[in-house]
Amino acid sequence: MISKSTTAGEGIKLSFRLHTLELRHQFTLASGSRKTTPVIITSLEYGEFTGYGEASMPPYLGENHDTASSFLSSLELSQFKDPLLIDDILEYVDNHRPGNYAAKAAVDIALHDLAGKISGLPVYRIYGLNPDETPYTSFTIGIDNPDVVRQKVSEAEPYKILKVKLGRNNDREMIEVIRSVTDKPLCADVNQGWKDKSYSLEMAHWLHEKGVIFLEQPLPKELIEETAWLRERSPIPVIGDEAVKNLADLVKYKDVYSGINVKLMKCGGIREAFIMLKTAKKLGLKTMIGCMTETSCAVTAAAHLSPLADWCDLDGNLLISNDLFDGLKITGGKVTLPQNRSGLGVNLLQKT
Ligand code: MG
Repeated sequence: MISKSTTAGEGIKLSFRLHTLELRHQFTLASGSRKTTPVIITSLEYGEFTGYGEASMPPYLGENHDTASSFLSSLELSQFKDPLLIDDILEYVDNHRPGNYAAKAAVDIALHDLAGKISGLPVYRIYGLNPDETPYTSFTIGIDNPDVVRQKVSEAEPYKILKVKLGRNNDREMIEVIRSVTDKPLCADVNQGWKDKSYSLEMAHWLHEKGVIFLEQPLPKELIEETAWLRERSPIPVIGDEAVKNLADLVKYKDVYSGINVKLMKCGGIREAFIMLKTAKKLGLKTMIGCMTETSCAVTAAAHLSPLADWCDLDGNLLISNDLFDGLKITGGKVTLPQNRSGLGVNLLQKT
């Protein structure tokens, strides 16, 4: 399977570059505002093949350029002479240091791209997934004043579902403004912004009446009993995001949330995300696949698993003005994976 021209004896070579993504709009959630996101682009070289990966590090996850550079610099991937031993390599990376999930995802994504290119298979084929079964993606509308919200809704014209950020002091206004210009299905992401279970239940009923189809992370992740209480009574599913980072969290909170939002940067990459999505389905939970503000590299990596998700929120590349890759496309609101390309199927747009 490995081409003769590869230099197997030298092992896998890891390199990485630091970048700062510029957001098109100031991005405001319940936890604060920002205009940039630090990312690292990784390359794994093996003979004539190069696989690309990415770590995106919004501040609330606790990783940054320094922590991820330190983690990546300390890895010794040259010990691995066969990039298709994905499980062995990622076990080593996972056990190398605790935490560092975005940095680990940067290696995991690049390794899947590399292994796919060597074997001539797209990543979705490696996992046996049907590229025709990708879902529609939502498009995120951050918290803002009514004029900007209306403008964002008009920019989101191609999307069938809008994701509305709530959790500040204008929740009803945000929904009413959006409802004044569109009747598309909405989903609401509170980013832990509400503090009271009774208020959350009242809002869940109101949002349901307004055509909101699910409610993401309404309460702080520490309010476990309150969230379970809400889930029991809510007319719409309650999805865990900040509370459910990895497989261990999924098992711990299986009776607290109705579903989970899986993100590569929280769980360490494609491999763990696949296991989480399959486990969630077996446990009867709803599944969603999401992303951070990322380039098309990491968003496309997540998109390869999107046939496993009930809902998807893969718009991170559309929220930035300096994407470094092309990859997935959104066609009539539906995720469309790169055609006839092995690995992730992404192309680097600019060498830096
Ligand atoms: Mg969320």
